[in-house]
Amino acid sequence: MCHDFFNDASFYDFLFQVDLDIASQVQQQPCQYCGGTLHSARYPRKPRGPRYGLTVDYQTRLSFCCAEDDCRRRTTPPSVRFLGRKVYLGVVIILITALKHGLSHQRRQQLFDQLDINPQTFYRWLTWWREFFPASRCWQAARSQFMPPLNNIQLPGALLGRFTGRDLPQRLCQFLQLLLPLSSTSWSGYLRVAIDPQKM
Ligand SMILES: [Zn+2]
Repeated sequence: MCHDFFNDASFYDFLFQVDLDIASQVQQQPCQYCGGTLHSARYPRKPRGPRYGLTVDYQTRLSFCCAEDDCRRRTTPPSVRFLGRKVYLGVVIILITALKHGLSHQRRQQLFDQLDINPQTFYRWLTWWREFFPASRCWQAARSQFMPPLNNIQLPGALLGRFTGRDLPQRLCQFLQLLLPLSSTSWSGYLRVAIDPQKM
């Protein structure tokens, strides 16, 4: 199941459409530094993980630059695809670490090979879930929605299991939505993100 999932072009396209919607909301607002107009200024990304299923749209991150000459500051909208500056897609980071307990050693190694992940990277992600993520404002604000409370050691697998989407892609979208505040350091306004399962 996972093997197919990681190369599922329609899922990645859906995430791109969500990112387009978020970016359009951000662009409708003025530059947060000077009030100027925001112009498109995508910048290159080379996401790692899936070998198939990613269109050319995944080679750039949606971003804006202020049109005012004396400002020109960059505003990068939150993203359900890119988790900040991490080179692997957010969905890969969630799923590989969430599946930690459910995979045989051999199956995990197959996934590492398939997704070009080395063990050091994997253990760095586990540390991120247990140390950085629990202390983040994003999780501090969201954690009370999940009762009974989750222990840091259960992250992210138990958290993935608490979302109510009807299947794994929907639960992953809900998870990525929760992580949105961590996906950009240059914008922190209010967003209306509607993940419509009909479009998935
Ligand atoms: Zn500006």
